[in-house]
Amino acid sequence: MAERVFPRGPARLFQRLGPRSQVALCQLPLTLIVAALAVATPYAWPTLLNSPLFLAGILLSGALFLGCLLVPWERLMHRPYLLIPILDFVAIGLLRNGAAPLLPGLAVLAVFPVIWLSASGMLTRISLVLSFFGPLLIMVPSLAARFPNLTASDVTTTVLFPLMMLAVSLAIRFASVHVRLQQRELAEKDRELRKLLRESREREKLLLTVLDATDVGIAAVDRSGHFLVSNNRQRNFRQATRADDAVPGQGHQLIFGQDRRTLLPPEKRPISRAIAGESFADYLVWAGEGPEQRAVSTAARPLVSEDGQLTGAVVVYSDVTGWVEALAANQELVSNVTHEFKTPLNSIIGNVDLVLDDVAALPPPVAKRLLVVQRNAERLLALVADLSASASAALNVHPKRTDLASLVETSIGSAQAQAEHANIVLTADVPSPLWAYADPLRIGQALDNLVSNAIKYSPDGGSISISAQSTKEWVQLSVSDTGMGISGEDTTRVFNRFYRTESAKGAAIAGAGLGLSITKMIVEGHGGNITCASGQGGQGSTFTLTLPVEGPPPSF
Ligand code: ADP
Repeated sequence: MAERVFPRGPARLFQRLGPRSQVALCQLPLTLIVAALAVATPYAWPTLLNSPLFLAGILLSGALFLGCLLVPWERLMHRPYLLIPILDFVAIGLLRNGAAPLLPGLAVLAVFPVIWLSASGMLTRISLVLSFFGPLLIMVPSLAARFPNLTASDVTTTVLFPLMMLAVSLAIRFASVHVRLQQRELAEKDRELRKLLRESREREKLLLTVLDATDVGIAAVDRSGHFLVSNNRQRNFRQATRADDAVPGQGHQLIFGQDRRTLLPPEKRPISRAIAGESFADYLVWAGEGPEQRAVSTAARPLVSEDGQLTGAVVVYSDVTGWVEALAANQELVSNVTHEFKTPLNSIIGNVDLVLDDVAALPPPVAKRLLVVQRNAERLLALVADLSASASAALNVHPKRTDLASLVETSIGSAQAQAEHANIVLTADVPSPLWAYADPLRIGQALDNLVSNAIKYSPDGGSISISAQSTKEWVQLSVSDTGMGISGEDTTRVFNRFYRTESAKGAAIAGAGLGLSITKMIVEGHGGNITCASGQGGQGSTFTLTLPVEGPPPSF
């Protein structure tokens, strides 16, 4: 890039003028003084009107100014306007020598052409030579007039004056070198700044292109929620959630919770959660209304400055509508199929039960085979019931203010006989009442499942305890046993559908691997969660489910 200096003020004005005006402007100060001299002469020094040299000096000065204005400098090769200051020396010489000894000080006018030549940017050596010899030329005639009666003072004055002008020229040179260095430095900095700016614009463009090429919406926001960067996907998402008319107290965004109908309160929206400093993943919200409504899985990470201050957040949105719809279709299929299985299975079990009512009348081999049919049909029915529950668990949760202590009591009551049979001591340490926002039917089902698992997977007997903890926002129920335990990695896998641990399979304990996945769906349907921890030394396990104390605030 070419070096560019950006002049300011008078310098910029000078640059805008044409070459003729520029040259005339340089000549103007000298011309004005000579003009003033010419006007004052008839009154102040009338004798000078008789000096042809003086008059010639005035005329030459005027002619030079006219020349500045009239000569087409722009068309001439090498722009020879520096002839003007050189000829100025001649005009000043004529003026000074024509006015001597009346006005010897006129020689000082030589400072004007000296300044012009020194600041003109011509070769230093030439400008120095001219700055010395021009003034010398002005002084020599008066010296010559006194020849041969020269005094030391005459010679000194004659030489000192050109030397002074030479010093002026040198000073201007040094000053202009300094200015030029500063300008170069400025130009260098300006170039670097422009380069940095260009690079940063290119980087920003690259970043935006990459962001726009991804199929997830990405937004970076500052602490007050203003967008710093966002990509096309995110803008589409914002478009989809823009409400046509404002909903009182809910702002202008159509972002719904899991039920697809309840507007999320502002503080539960992904961006609000993110700028509050929360870090989350897989937070599912529904964007927009009607057939255009989309399921959006969101995740957020806080932006933290070097000194640890929270400066904003990055929020990522992925459209998971297809996935959610596929899951719902899958659940609907399972629910329909299991429903169709139940009727014939109930018929088989009912008929076998009827036949087995009079088991003594049956030949023993037939009775034995019918008992196998009965056992397997019942197993099949239990499996079908589990499958059907797994398909509907997430969909049919109706939470309300519920006392968990009474649910625990009921669960213990129904498991007591099974526990005694397995030589297990069942205890509970739960304060009563223990309020939570829960569907009593579903949470009862989840508790039954955890307690019956604890009994089932404690083949050697032992103890099971149910305990509770609560905060202002959450209630936790833990079911701990002293049974066979669950190894490290399996503590998360056990919640997957059909997953069974090796030790459970090895111990030939019957099961389909559906109970915990149903329990998880139920708890998550309440906005809570469930975790599993293995006991000390791999013995025993603890399942903890966390539920909200209060439901969401009513929506308008
Ligand atoms: P099921 O019990 O029908 O196999 P679940 O989904 O209830 O299905 O449990 C999944 C697996 O988790 C079980 O097969 C078993 O391996 C393990 N599991 C569940 N509860 C316990 C427990 N209390 N102790 C040890 N293992 C357990």
